[in-house]
Amino acid sequence: MVQSRGEQPRAIARSIIAARETVRPCALCGFFTTAEICDICADNTRAADQLCVVEQPTDILPLEKTSAFRGRYHSLGGRISPLDHVGPEDLRISELVKRVQSEGFTEVILALAADVEGEATTNYIVELLKPFTVTITRIAHGLPAGGGLESADELTLYQALSGRTKL
Ligand SMILES: [Zn+2]
Repeated sequence: MVQSRGEQPRAIARSIIAARETVRPCALCGFFTTAEICDICADNTRAADQLCVVEQPTDILPLEKTSAFRGRYHSLGGRISPLDHVGPEDLRISELVKRVQSEGFTEVILALAADVEGEATTNYIVELLKPFTVTITRIAHGLPAGGGLESADELTLYQALSGRTKL
């Protein structure tokens, strides 16, 4: 940046400012958009019966890259973390319950982190959604592709073992 000549740094600065001013959270799912509703929520070709719950809007990007999921998303904006003074009321959890109530999903997939706060948030949401006739699932956690058993930590191995599938 310092070495570049002319207009380039100004153009980059203008782009960042413009993005900051025009990009906002989708009113429905919390993903990034310049309109009221994001492209994913507005896409009628996507399945309307599956909802994938993530912590941050940035978590949606890697999931979209896999092309393995063609349903809807809901970003919580974080996770329950008493140490950081983040409670359920600080997250988009009541919005999630409202969507489950009104949008007729048959499956809610929880794709939160596999650490202590992620587990606490997952358990909290499972309890909240129990009264609804919706199947609640979670993404599998375990060993990374290409990783050997000897390099995995105990929690990862435990989750890989408890989440095993029948062949
Ligand atoms: Zn959206």
